[in-house]
Amino acid sequence: MTDYLLRATAGGIRLFAAVTTGLTEEARRRHQLSPLATAALGRLMTGGLLLAAKLKTNEAITVRVQGDGPLGELVADAYGNGMVRGYVTHPLADLPLNEQGKLPVGAGVGQGQLFVTRFTNLKQPFTGTSPLVSGEIAEDITEYLYISEQTPSSVALGVRIQTDLQVEAAGGFFVEPMPEATDEEISKLEENLRKLPPVSTVLLQEEGAEKLLQALTEGLPLKIHDRQELQFSCPCSREKVEAMLISLGPEELASMEQEGKTEIVCHFCTEKYSFDSKALAELRLEAAGEGHGEDRGED
Ligand code: ZN
Repeated sequence: MTDYLLRATAGGIRLFAAVTTGLTEEARRRHQLSPLATAALGRLMTGGLLLAAKLKTNEAITVRVQGDGPLGELVADAYGNGMVRGYVTHPLADLPLNEQGKLPVGAGVGQGQLFVTRFTNLKQPFTGTSPLVSGEIAEDITEYLYISEQTPSSVALGVRIQTDLQVEAAGGFFVEPMPEATDEEISKLEENLRKLPPVSTVLLQEEGAEKLLQALTEGLPLKIHDRQELQFSCPCSREKVEAMLISLGPEELASMEQEGKTEIVCHFCTEKYSFDSKALAELRLEAAGEGHGEDRGED
C-alpha cells in the first residue's frame, strides 16, 4: 500500500489528510525504533508532511521536538514533494502502556520546546518556536501554529502498532478555516471533530485519508483537489559526505587516515558510507587544494 496525502476544501475550510503507514514502518526498520519511538517519530514525520502540504515541491520544513523525556530529541525533515526523513536521539527508549492502553508519547517526549523551520524560495529560512503542551506532538503542533503563526487549526496524528511491533496504521489530518469560512461551516466542522473516532482507527480502513476527510466534512461540500504520494527518503549521498569530510581540513583527514577505515552513518536514514585510508588520502589532497576537485587553487 502506498502512502499518500490528499488536499481538499469544504466550503471555506481547508483540509489535508495523510496515510503514512509505510514510511513510519520504514523509519522503524531503519532506526530499529522501540514502539514508543515509532509512535513519536511516526507522528512527527506525519505532522511535518501535513505542514509541508502548503509548500512548493522544492521547499521544505524541519520540525524539531526538544523535550527532557527518555526519547531525547526528535527531528523530521519534510519536503513539498512528499519526501520525509527523521530520527530520534534514543531510538530504543520505551515505556509501558498507560491506563488507556496507549503508548505514552507525551511522557516519552517530556517537557520542552517545539521548533519549526521553513525553507522557502522567498526568503531566508525562518525558525519559530513554542513550548510543548503535552509532548503528544499533534497538540504541540496545533499550539505552535496558533502561537507562532496565528493560524487557528486542528491537527490530529495517530500511529497504531501491532503486537509484532510492525506499524499497522499511521497518518493524520490538518484542518484550517480560511478567512472566507462561514460561522455555520466552522460550527459544523467543530461538531464533526467532536464525534470523530481516533485517527488510527479510521486509518485501519481502506482509503483511510478519504475516510478521514469524509468524517471531518459530514454535512459540508467536500472537494478533493489532489493526491500526492509520500515516502521515507533521505537526500544524503556519498558526494555530500565527501564534501563534509573535505571541509574538516587536511590535518583532521590525515589523522583519520592513520586510524584506517572510517565509517560515517547518516543520522536521518542510517545509510553507511565507509572510507578506507586510500579514499581518505584522496580527500586530504583535495582538502589541501592539490586534488582534482572543482577548486583548483591559484595558477
Ligand atoms: Zn541519509
